[in-house]
Amino acid sequence: MIDGAMLIGGEARQADHRFHAINPATGETMEPTYSCSGLDAVDEAARLAEAAFPVYSTTTPEVRGAFLDACAEAILAIGDELIERAMAETGLPRARLEGERGRTVGQLKLFANVVRQGDWLDVTIDPALPDRAPLPRPDLRRIKLPLGPVVVFGASNFPLAFSVAGGDTASALAAGCPVIVKGHSAHPGTGELVARALSSAVQSCGLPAGVFSFLPGNNRELGGALVADPRVQAVGFTGSRGGGTALLKIAQSRPEPIPVYAEMSSINPVILFPAALAARGAAIATGFVQSLTMGAGQFCTNPGLVLAIDSPELDAFIEAASAAVSDCQPATMLSPGIHASFEQGVEALASHSAVKQRARGRVGEGVNQAVGALFETDCASFMADPALSHEVFGSSSVVVRCGDTEQLAQVLATLEGQLTITLQMEAEDEPEAAKLMPLLVRRAGRVLANGWPTGVEVSHAMVHGGPYPATSDTRTTSVGTLAIERFLRPVCFQNLPDTLLPPAAQQANPWSVARRVDGKREASAR
Ligand code: NAP
Repeated sequence: MIDGAMLIGGEARQADHRFHAINPATGETMEPTYSCSGLDAVDEAARLAEAAFPVYSTTTPEVRGAFLDACAEAILAIGDELIERAMAETGLPRARLEGERGRTVGQLKLFANVVRQGDWLDVTIDPALPDRAPLPRPDLRRIKLPLGPVVVFGASNFPLAFSVAGGDTASALAAGCPVIVKGHSAHPGTGELVARALSSAVQSCGLPAGVFSFLPGNNRELGGALVADPRVQAVGFTGSRGGGTALLKIAQSRPEPIPVYAEMSSINPVILFPAALAARGAAIATGFVQSLTMGAGQFCTNPGLVLAIDSPELDAFIEAASAAVSDCQPATMLSPGIHASFEQGVEALASHSAVKQRARGRVGEGVNQAVGALFETDCASFMADPALSHEVFGSSSVVVRCGDTEQLAQVLATLEGQLTITLQMEAEDEPEAAKLMPLLVRRAGRVLANGWPTGVEVSHAMVHGGPYPATSDTRTTSVGTLAIERFLRPVCFQNLPDTLLPPAAQQANPWSVARRVDGKREASAR
């Protein structure tokens, strides 16, 4: 059911201020209207989250795991209404959204298993050494504990997997933190359906109501008030650089600053090495254009920059890629705002005196459509103007011709932090690639060979992060199980009696988690 409500601790309430969703494929407004949550709603949701924290943060792994599984089941139980609404609000096709629902559900279940397994608690025990000379050692027990209530800003480009019940929410709930979601204004109906599913899971699992709240809205005051609320202890965000940095500033100006894990902007360089271009330039061009134009290019890992050394093989690659881009069908973008900034970004590149437009895709009849774009420039011009390395969110990319590996390295050195860097290489290219490796790992959170950056595996080893502005905190990831770390902090207990310790740190290890005792890893009984 969708009626435009806020869900504050599971209770549906309507606000007087209202806003509409827009169908990006038609440009028309959609019914119903949605609540624009006010400051009273922020206060109530934060109060309930704070009240829920002592109970929720101390739930057993079984209880918390069952809750995450129940969230996944409740999302599946919405059925086709969820897919239909998301299609209408985002312009994304059915197959993509069905796949994304699978990823969302799989992500929740993965975190349920992580919680049950207990490694995230990182229990580390240094037993007392009363006879140690010259000083005895106290009994020290370190464990990771949840931070407190977390605010999540959903992303427009993943209305399921990075929105209300997406990776930020799943990892914060797994850590034991109540979550308040600021619903994205571009898909409020999709958001409400998922929020109702999560609220029903909170209720069916007998958890405190404040474990989850959903505050839709389309005004900046709402997000700012959520980040400024003293009860909120961390923020997860995916979106624009402007939005992420504005929220970061608010968080850092609080009397008690808090971490903001913002994933913002990345152009994901692809390096084409000479032997790879010679061996399979045409196939690389095909793969590149598929990655560039998939989903209208609306991925944070979209390959927006290609670096290669000048050669006839590079000419052939550009020809083939240009032909493929010219042949691309237009695709509806997520919102009129995202379409407008894409057009603006492409226009800025097209009118730049040092940039040559190599291809534009086919133009369609509809509104808000991305028409793919491929540009070319030389490495001196690219390095002379930082604007050329700004993210153009959508299917647009720039090929930069470099004189040699040294120049290519100079370009890499001038780039801002990236989520990914891709290497297209053959065995003969390895010595040159090896020279770049120290630079690559300084610049990106994920370095990949002979694949494409779009398509991010949700798994234990994944890193979807990187130096600023890819993210605001390069030490973490927003995809994969390591994401839980963002919402935990270590606490050490010194000489405390067993009865005062969290169960996982108690002598008898009642949760049977794996622990490190006196520097040695003990096997888990799980
Ligand atoms: P956005 O405009 O940054 O919005 C994301 C969320 O943050 C929304 O809920 C938005 O509220 C809120 N917000 C934004 N600025 C705020 C501020 N100053 N104070 C308080 N709240 C604020 O991102 P978007 O709408 O998803 O996409 C817009 C642009 O973001 C794209 O064109 C693209 O450049 C970039 N983007 C990047 C990625 C990536 O992964 N790198 C992903 C998606 C988008 P409202 O709902 O009220 O707007």
